[in-house]
Amino acid sequence: MDSKDFDVKEKIQWCPGCGNFGLIAALKGAMADLELKQHETVVVSGIGCSSKLPHYVDTYGFESIHGRGLPVASAIKLSNHNLDVVSVGGDGDGYGIGVQHFIHIMRRNYNLTYIVHNNQIYGLTTGQASPTTMLGAKTKTTPWGVVEEPFKPLTVAINGGATFVARGYVGDPVHLKELFKQAIEHKGFAFVDVFQPCVTFNKINTYPWFQKRVYKLENNDVTDKWAALKNAAEDEETNFEKVPIGVFYKVEKPTYESTLPQIKDKPMVEQDIENVDISEAYNELE
Ligand code: SF4
Repeated sequence: MDSKDFDVKEKIQWCPGCGNFGLIAALKGAMADLELKQHETVVVSGIGCSSKLPHYVDTYGFESIHGRGLPVASAIKLSNHNLDVVSVGGDGDGYGIGVQHFIHIMRRNYNLTYIVHNNQIYGLTTGQASPTTMLGAKTKTTPWGVVEEPFKPLTVAINGGATFVARGYVGDPVHLKELFKQAIEHKGFAFVDVFQPCVTFNKINTYPWFQKRVYKLENNDVTDKWAALKNAAEDEETNFEKVPIGVFYKVEKPTYESTLPQIKDKPMVEQDIENVDISEAYNELE
């Protein structure tokens, strides 16, 4: 397969130069390399610039509501866990309004991939501070600078139960594609935070800003949780002089679908629901 197999005719509406272009190219490349079948793949999103992505990939898709991509993605997985499910969204969508879903879905270890386009700003609504906007950044909602500590997605994911935690950068699309391939192939909840410059509204975290700071993790023990947490903290510890990307953490654990008695042997969609006898449950309620 070729990444062009996932192209659609619809015109992409992102600003010229937006980091979302690099991300979608890497995702389509990963899907092609893994030979995912369009009719067995679902891309789900919330709301935001990045959440338009399901419209631009030729698979099944579902654009939900703000912060609710993950609940929809997990429901799809519960209904038919034979499908490949990728949930996407932005930092405002996933780390703001949707953060409670992120936390609880991680600890269940569904076998799905969650990609966050982290541009450290609300882009679609024209430049308000998001949960990952840097301290001191002046935005429309913080004219004197952000005074809140930024949300730390990798630290939260490593501690929260995600069994695959990675970070990529759209300025290195080859590396990003490989991260996506590993995430999709991982059996469990795979989380990839992606630095995706918003060229229109974030004038701090630009391509040159990342080019100077980003470096690839190599030879790190991805099964060592403490090493992963230390690597995740390096950006803040170095005052953002060094910003690592790569796989931070990866462990094998049973997935939710493989342990839930009702579906572990057969996806729900393949079960005979016509002849289920629920009279015993009714009788208990009488
Ligand atoms: Fe991309 Fe920012 Fe434009 Fe949204 S506003 S499409 S994130 S550059």
